[in-house]
Amino acid sequence: MKTNVLTSIAILLFATLTTFGQGCFLNGSSSNLGQTTKFSGNPNFDQINTQEYYYLVQKFGVSPDLYYLQDGDTPNAYATPKVSNPNLQDGTVLIGFSLIQQECLQSSSGTCSAIPIVMAHEFAHIVDFKFGTGLSGKHKELFADYLAGCYMYFRSVEFKTTFVQEAALSFFQKGDYSFNSPQHHGTPNQRYNCLMNGYQLAYNMSMRGQHLSLQGAVNAAIQYVRRF
Ligand SMILES: [Zn+2]
Repeated sequence: MKTNVLTSIAILLFATLTTFGQGCFLNGSSSNLGQTTKFSGNPNFDQINTQEYYYLVQKFGVSPDLYYLQDGDTPNAYATPKVSNPNLQDGTVLIGFSLIQQECLQSSSGTCSAIPIVMAHEFAHIVDFKFGTGLSGKHKELFADYLAGCYMYFRSVEFKTTFVQEAALSFFQKGDYSFNSPQHHGTPNQRYNCLMNGYQLAYNMSMRGQHLSLQGAVNAAIQYVRRF
C-alpha cells in the first residue's frame, strides 16, 4: 500500500514536472525527464544521500524535496521551484541514476566526489529561485557552479573527504560551446573557474578565521559571474 502511494506521488510529480518549463536541466530539455522515485533500492546508498541532503539544507538555507530520476541514457539532474511536498516549500531537486552511475564510473578516487557537488549546483538554483539573483541564462548556471564551489570547501573540511580536482574536472567536462542555446551552461573553462573560485573564497576566508555566510557567498558569486 505504501509503495502504491509513493508510486502515485512519483507519477503525479512526473506528470507535473513534464509540463513545467522553468528550472535547470544538467542535460537536454524537459522532454528527457523520466520517472521519479524516493528510493534507489539500496538502503545504504539512500542513507548516504540523506546525510548529504541535510548538510546541503544546512549550508544553503533551503529545503527542497529530493527525488531520484530515471534518466535513462541521458545523465541528468534538475532543480525546479515547483513544490512537490507541501512541507518542503522551496521546490524540488532531482538527481538521475544514470548521472550517479556515470560520475562513479569516472571517479578515479572511487569516492564519486562529483555527485554531491552536482547536488550542490542544483541546491544553488533553489537558492536563486527563493531569494532571486537577477541573473539570467548562463550566468544563472555559473552562479550555481560558484556556490557549489563554496559548498565543496565546507564539505571537504567539515563533512566528508572530497576529491576537489575530481569534481572540478567533472564540471569542466560538462561545459559546452552552445552559446546561442537556452541550455548553455558556460564553457568548460568558465565552469571550472567559477567552481574553483567559489572553493577558493570559502578556503581563504576560513584561513583568515572568517565565516562565509550564505549571503556573502551569493553576493560574491553574482559579482564574479558577471565578468563572463
Ligand atoms: Zn544548472
